[in-house]
Amino acid sequence: MKLLLEHLHITGHTPRPARRRAQFKGEVLPETLVDACPRVRVADLPPGFLKKKWFEHLEQNQQIASCCRHPENHFIEAKRSHPEEPAPDIYQFFCDRCNKKHTFVCMGLEDTLPIWKVAA
Ligand SMILES: [Zn+2]
Repeated sequence: MKLLLEHLHITGHTPRPARRRAQFKGEVLPETLVDACPRVRVADLPPGFLKKKWFEHLEQNQQIASCCRHPENHFIEAKRSHPEEPAPDIYQFFCDRCNKKHTFVCMGLEDTLPIWKVAA
């Protein structure tokens, strides 16, 4: 399987104040998720392609199981939180040992996002 990789630089998600408020309260995300990037093995992506802070968060989180503290043991997929969202803003890691999901939400107005797709 060949993957096409790119970094997408965004300078602003479409403002959605209601959605932001809901997320800050820790409520569940609206059911409008759209698949953006397919599930792939983190280990199949080149070093440095994914955000370093996601790796650090998993590696250093004492609240999660020890198997989940190894980012390279995860699958990752990306979603858009709304069909009109121009770029992925939800990245989900799935531990391949215990299958637990770890979600990272990108809410920044300016960001560089990793994007991947399977080559046809
Ligand atoms: Zn795990």
